[in-house]
Amino acid sequence: MIAGQRKHSLPDKYLAAGLWLLLLFSTAYSQEPIRFDEHFSDKGMRINFYMVGEAKEEQIIIHSIYQEELWPESKTNLTNSFNHGRYFIKVYEVASNKLIYARGFDCQFGEYRTTTPALNGVKKVFQRAVRIPWPRHRVNVVFEGRDRKNLLQPLTVVTIDPEDYRHLRESGQAGDEVFEIKKSGPPAERVDLVFLAEGYREEEKEKFVGDVKRFSGYLFEVEPYRSNQQKFNIYGVFRPSAESGTDEPRQKIYKNTVLKASFNALDLDRYLLTEEGFLIREMAARAPYDAIVILVNSKRYGGGGIYNDYCITTVDNQASKGVFLHEFGHSFAGLADEYYTSDVSYNEFYPPGVEPLEPNITALLDPENLKWKDLLSPGISIPTEYGKEEIEKLQAERRANLQEMNRALEEARKKNLKDRDIKKLQDRFLAKDKTIAERIKAVREKYRDLEDKVGAFEGAGYASRGLYRPMIYCIMISSPKMEFCRVCQRAIQQMIDYYSR
Ligand SMILES: [Zn+2]
Repeated sequence: MIAGQRKHSLPDKYLAAGLWLLLLFSTAYSQEPIRFDEHFSDKGMRINFYMVGEAKEEQIIIHSIYQEELWPESKTNLTNSFNHGRYFIKVYEVASNKLIYARGFDCQFGEYRTTTPALNGVKKVFQRAVRIPWPRHRVNVVFEGRDRKNLLQPLTVVTIDPEDYRHLRESGQAGDEVFEIKKSGPPAERVDLVFLAEGYREEEKEKFVGDVKRFSGYLFEVEPYRSNQQKFNIYGVFRPSAESGTDEPRQKIYKNTVLKASFNALDLDRYLLTEEGFLIREMAARAPYDAIVILVNSKRYGGGGIYNDYCITTVDNQASKGVFLHEFGHSFAGLADEYYTSDVSYNEFYPPGVEPLEPNITALLDPENLKWKDLLSPGISIPTEYGKEEIEKLQAERRANLQEMNRALEEARKKNLKDRDIKKLQDRFLAKDKTIAERIKAVREKYRDLEDKVGAFEGAGYASRGLYRPMIYCIMISSPKMEFCRVCQRAIQQMIDYYSR
């Protein structure tokens, strides 16, 4: 169903631009708080749309609008949301031109745009759904996207009449089973977390319920979730898949599953996502939900998390707990990756000279006004020297030594050397390896007292240089103690407060 498509045709473009100016102007002044009941009824409006394009061009095309039974998100935090997300949805009442709802979001398409195929002009289309509270009156819904300077620019505007008979008010698919795992309060005053089953057969229903309990348990093992347990409701939605597991295209493994999740997203080995953006929401809407976690019944290492969209993880890998906590950090709190390996498909994910949006990494363009300034450890130097270069040099030395060892051993075997001599050869390299490892340890030891300090540590957001993270260890990079850094903890706490009361 086409609810209103305003792109490409010239008059519409002008209309959108004109409207945009008007909207900008009308909201230049702060307004009084929005009273929910005055503008909305207690239902959700799910807007399904397509995001189409490549690196240079992008387009949003509305597909359909669904009514959800209730509005489980906050009824007080309606326009004062976070600055997270590459995209924004803003809702203006037509009659008053008043901004009555705003929320940022991300989409896999936003990541796709930074990949090499997208830079080469290969277009792709992604499904996405965003939910707003059901408006009482006609509204202009504005979709905005970030430019390379992270400034929001209008993408499309649609006028929605809530009375339009074409909006779909059908009930969800019969046969889904909804499990209430933990109920601590009314949905509008709690964080409602829904787990969706992916790749579980009918006879694996009990396993799914067990997995939901296990994974929500993981969440409450770490701060700040632990001390906020009473602010969460937990649900599970089970829809059986025809087969167990998930797609692993590079291994030529294909499974018939409900949400069509797949490894090798953006052509990466460990990146697991689903492109069924409409279906995810349809399934999630069987329960009140603020945040979605898709549990994939597989042993393989992998997952993904997209802000204000969903988190996905396999359940039976030994690293699944860490993957889940990390990916949920992305999808729930808009946290950035703090690691800086170059093993990603993105090009200039964070353009140089532009401050990233995420709360936990910085380009340090203004060291005096670091965004986590108030959390800095007293007297810490900015940027914070922590032996990074020394350690990286030693790590490179270590890798070179081990590579050299493999070459030498291969050579020795070719020459049919005696086992005893091969072992001698190997021991020589291993002794060197041990020495280097000890030197690395000594450098780490030298900076040991920095491990609980908040500063600005270089190396974050896929970049070894030019981007900084708040602490040495964090679940968003790697954490031996399985803890979030203090800046991430605060960002998560703010999101919990946003949804709960
Ligand atoms: Zn962190």
